[in-house]
Amino acid sequence: MDPIMAIAKKHKLKVIEDCAQSFGGDYKGKMTGGFGEFGCFSFFPSKNLGCYGDGGMVTTNDPELAERVKVLRNHGSKVRYYHSVIGYNSRLDEIQAAILRVKLKRMKRFNEMRNSNAHLYSKMFEGSGVTPPFEDGNGMHVYHQYTVKTRDREKIIEALAKEGIASAIYYPVPLHKQDVYKNDYQGLSLPVTEKVSQEVLSLPIFPELTEEEIKKVVSTILTVLG
Ligand SMILES: *Cc1c(COP(=O)(O)O)cnc(C)c1O
Repeated sequence: MDPIMAIAKKHKLKVIEDCAQSFGGDYKGKMTGGFGEFGCFSFFPSKNLGCYGDGGMVTTNDPELAERVKVLRNHGSKVRYYHSVIGYNSRLDEIQAAILRVKLKRMKRFNEMRNSNAHLYSKMFEGSGVTPPFEDGNGMHVYHQYTVKTRDREKIIEALAKEGIASAIYYPVPLHKQDVYKNDYQGLSLPVTEKVSQEVLSLPIFPELTEEEIKKVVSTILTVLG
């Protein structure tokens, strides 16, 4: 975040953080969602703080922007039935909020459990053909995903599936290669992104994952790699 904020400051850019996968994470002691103009969180069921349908949250440290987001969220209305701007129906519904309030109290522990599960995976992959995710020591990683790099992705996916173990590719097509940006970014070359998108594989991760289950996933992978 330091280099990103420095670039933004130099060129007078606004930073909007995509925090959909970083709920509870921090960088040098500061929580994600607190660096830029806005932080955008997702509570989609698959997220590390997930509700049972769709939901999300916008954070900001600017009271004026907070007020504006609140108005936009509610049909552009501050006073009921009086509309000052064109807004949306983006309220967090009550049922989802009730679920999130219960989970929120446990998030610190859940994130710590994800963290220790991830570290166990990484320790077991040491010296293998699987590259575990890198931590630079600058913050708390919440491991919404546990994503490794490997040249043998297809083989591994197949072997895991045979054992009834799910895995997933996040994401197979980089943003600049999506159809929607075909015209905007034609010919743009992002070699690192493109290479990584061919090699990433996300393995099962969640707070309640057991040591035995992690061992099973790792041994299945190491067996197929030979
Ligand atoms: C899930 C996700 C989103 C989208 O969140 P929605 O709640 O579906 O709008 C955006 N960015 C990242 C990185 C995500 O993981």
